Amino acid sequence: MENKPAPSNFIRNIIIDDLKSGKHKEIVTRFPPEPNGYLHIGHAKSIVLNFDLADEFNGKTNLRFDDTNPLKEETEYVESIKEDVKWLGYQWDGLYFGSDYFEEMFNRAILLIKKGLAYVCDLSADEIRETRGTLKEPGEESPYRNRTVEENLDLFERMRKGEFRDGEKVLRAKIDMSSPNLNMRDPVLYRISHTPHHNTGDKWCIYPMYDFAHPLEDAIEGVTHSICTLEFEDHRPLYDWVIRECEMENEPHQYEFARLNMTNTVMSKRKLKLLVDAGVVDGWDDPRMPTISGLRRRGFTPEAICAFVREIGVAKSNSIVDARMLDHFLREDLKLKAPRTMAVIRPLRVIITNYPEEQVEWLDAENNPENPEMGIRKIPFSREIYIEQDDFMEDPPKKYHRLFPGNEVRLKHAYFIKCQEVIKDEQGNITELHCTYDPATKSGTDFTERKVKGTIHWVDAGQARAAEFRLYEPLILDEENEEGTDFLDNINPNSLEILQGFVEPGLKEAKPHDKFQFFRHGYFNIDPRLSTDNKPVFNRIVSLKSSFKL
Ligand code: ATP
Ligand code: MG
Repeated sequence: MENKPAPSNFIRNIIIDDLKSGKHKEIVTRFPPEPNGYLHIGHAKSIVLNFDLADEFNGKTNLRFDDTNPLKEETEYVESIKEDVKWLGYQWDGLYFGSDYFEEMFNRAILLIKKGLAYVCDLSADEIRETRGTLKEPGEESPYRNRTVEENLDLFERMRKGEFRDGEKVLRAKIDMSSPNLNMRDPVLYRISHTPHHNTGDKWCIYPMYDFAHPLEDAIEGVTHSICTLEFEDHRPLYDWVIRECEMENEPHQYEFARLNMTNTVMSKRKLKLLVDAGVVDGWDDPRMPTISGLRRRGFTPEAICAFVREIGVAKSNSIVDARMLDHFLREDLKLKAPRTMAVIRPLRVIITNYPEEQVEWLDAENNPENPEMGIRKIPFSREIYIEQDDFMEDPPKKYHRLFPGNEVRLKHAYFIKCQEVIKDEQGNITELHCTYDPATKSGTDFTERKVKGTIHWVDAGQARAAEFRLYEPLILDEENEEGTDFLDNINPNSLEILQGFVEPGLKEAKPHDKFQFFRHGYFNIDPRLSTDNKPVFNRIVSLKSSFKL
């Protein structure tokens, strides 16, 4: 798939201006995930945006783990995030952890206290919320707001030393309890949490809040353009306040863009974790998950994912993207790359009664008619084959052009066959068809005497390789918006169908993550976790057609 340059966007235009005016000689962006879960497709949008901008303007992009909440963060998540960023095709310049800067952040907090801009407050979290006021009403000042600098320095040091219990005290910025922006009403900067941290262990029992930590992390790393999603627009005044009052040498600027939302998709690590913990899915990399690892296991390619998020662009207002648009990019990516072969996913045995017993012939089959460079393979044909159960009807409606008693169809790459007899078991289930073939109709010869309307696929029963096929439907039934009803009530009970069938024998060399287009069924990927040497498991990535138009 061609690698289209990203279309322009407002952040890119700002960068062009900043470089032109000399405000920055080099731009630095960052991707700052909190390691509290696996990355999802929404994160891909942020990754592509940040890395592409830096790449285009010869800047740098850091991968920084925003790990300031020890309760939710784990090393497993750190490792998976690194793997996913690399898999998407990006290499970070610096690899940092917010927790590396705890000492520096602590010192900046001391600076605020000394400047009379921060105080230790004994109100509980509930009391702080209750006294915060509303959009119409100003907040109330905390009774602890006018503690002296000395008292605050002493209490803050003692908070660090572990003299107080969780929630007993916090450090708050002293800004303006009647600010029209609620984020400026003496926000909490530090809280106490006696919880070991994945990086710093027991060294700290006070942890900085996001709104204090994030601007400092950006400034310490020399980030120039700090890109985040729209929910943080109202936090920008606080971001700027922290940079200014902490007297940071570098002055990063925050820019907000619309987050990616998709139909039928939950886009939040916290919610995705609920699905994992409740056992609704088989782990973070379940092929139905919108995580990068789930999409990878399903068979989506980094090329398709990046092209998709580039195409959506960078907007300033939120919208919901049709999830089928991602499928479109996968088809575009694999159209010329994936070999096209035959697989029967709901097998029905067919005996070709006039074909010599013991005979096997090897027929030519093109690997990809749209990409002749992929060459030709040989496929076996003999007296017993499998076709799809769906490709036969005993009592068909009008316009059914596939196999039915007395009808003739073309077997892809092989011969015309005609259905002569339907064999059933005692319960009346169809177990086998008896057909005849016409040797004159071999594919590739210029047989013109008669035409058939249907072409069906098949595999040779003697040599086919048993395989499992997993077909997926959306995991979430309804569109899920962040404020919507409980998404756990919207789980699709039929999101996975498992079928046992056969693929061509040539697929015996196939390895995990090899991708194929199975004639008429769609694109499939060999599952890396469930496949065995004896039996590959194929995840359907997408079907061949969709009503979706770009
Ligand atoms: P989640 O709720 O899934 O945990 P988050 O925003 O809390 O998401 P972070 O780990 O803090 O996740 O996100 C890292 C970066 O990815 C942030 O800059 C964030 O703005 C961005 N990001 C997260 N979700 C999306 C999304 N749906 N679309 C675009 N960017 C996103
Ligand atoms: Mg989060």
